[in-house]
Amino acid sequence: MGAGIFDSHCHYDDHAFDKDRDELLKSLFAGGVGYLMHACTDERSARYGIEAAKKYENYYTSVGFHPECCDDTPDDFISILRSLLGESEKIRAIGEIGLDYHYEGYDRERQMYIFEQQVMLANEVSLPVIVHSRNATEDTMEILRRHKPKGVMHCFSGSAETAKEVTALGMYIGFTGVLTFKKSKKAKKACAAAGLDRLLLETDCPYMAPEPFRGQRSDSSMIEKTAAAAAEILGLTTQQVIDKTNENARILFGIGVKD
Ligand SMILES: [Zn+2]
Ligand SMILES: [Zn+2]
Repeated sequence: MGAGIFDSHCHYDDHAFDKDRDELLKSLFAGGVGYLMHACTDERSARYGIEAAKKYENYYTSVGFHPECCDDTPDDFISILRSLLGESEKIRAIGEIGLDYHYEGYDRERQMYIFEQQVMLANEVSLPVIVHSRNATEDTMEILRRHKPKGVMHCFSGSAETAKEVTALGMYIGFTGVLTFKKSKKAKKACAAAGLDRLLLETDCPYMAPEPFRGQRSDSSMIEKTAAAAAEILGLTTQQVIDKTNENARILFGIGVKD
């Protein structure tokens, strides 16, 4: 037996979990889930992550401002993050941060400013970043090339070439249930290009449920399906993928593994 599934990116503060959050988390930890990393989106979400990390031994958290929250991100976001960082030693990443040009009317300049400032803070305090990039590969890569943070590009949707560049920068690549979709050829190629040593698994729950749960609320137990898809791509067993991605995440987030 390995150390179980490491869900490197989850949003259990989402309203989709309001009815059964704590029962679900208890059952996940009692089942095959070893560790959870809360992907923070704003200050309220950071408070949730810090509380959950107090409650559950293997629940870790990030703090950061998500690009979709750009309009509501207060101007003193860096001082807010600095003060949050002092609240828990289970804060192991700055995230999720990045660029999202999906919705019309996005403010590119402000998103880039907020992203870059948070990357610089992560480097200063020696924490990895959890990067969200949607329709914004070029600008995201420019900031990552400039600052070379440790971290993960989550819910990876880029090409195999981008995957190679991200891993060459020393970063990890996170895949969701999308990897199990029949039509996700691009994600499969990117997974092969990333290789097992740079791979992380995630739900991005409540979204992105893998087959055969597609469209349903996802939770961390479903990662087994994503691990099976990665195993097929990499020519390994599902257990090998679960074990190694667990180790990768613990190395990245500094959880019980020596550098
Ligand atoms: Zn994201
Ligand atoms: Zn997310």
